[in-house]
Amino acid sequence: MTSKLPDWIIEWMQKDRLVRNKYKISHKYVSHPKRIQKMDEKRDEQGNIISFKYMIISTKYGKYWVRYNEGLYECSCPFFKHRGICSHIFGVCQITKIWPKKDLLFSKKEKTE
Ligand SMILES: [Zn+2]
Repeated sequence: MTSKLPDWIIEWMQKDRLVRNKYKISHKYVSHPKRIQKMDEKRDEQGNIISFKYMIISTKYGKYWVRYNEGLYECSCPFFKHRGICSHIFGVCQITKIWPKKDLLFSKKEKTE
């Protein structure tokens, strides 16, 4: 586990074995750069990132899309719908060093449940 991980994600992984497992899986994307491709990126006038889009190539399931917009991540995979996070988002986070905002992530989850 790297020190770059936010504390709340470490705590989440300690409580939720499935989330921990997705983080482990994400390393196989990070270690194969061709499997995480940046498709789009928007920055403001100061150069801060506003939004981006990545294509993730899973050898088992095909392509998934990870979108980031102002602190909020979304993925097109089925696991994302259950937990609000997935191996694809974890992979993109490690590459961009941009992590989801905790309050945004959990407020969205409550809405969908
Ligand atoms: Zn996903």
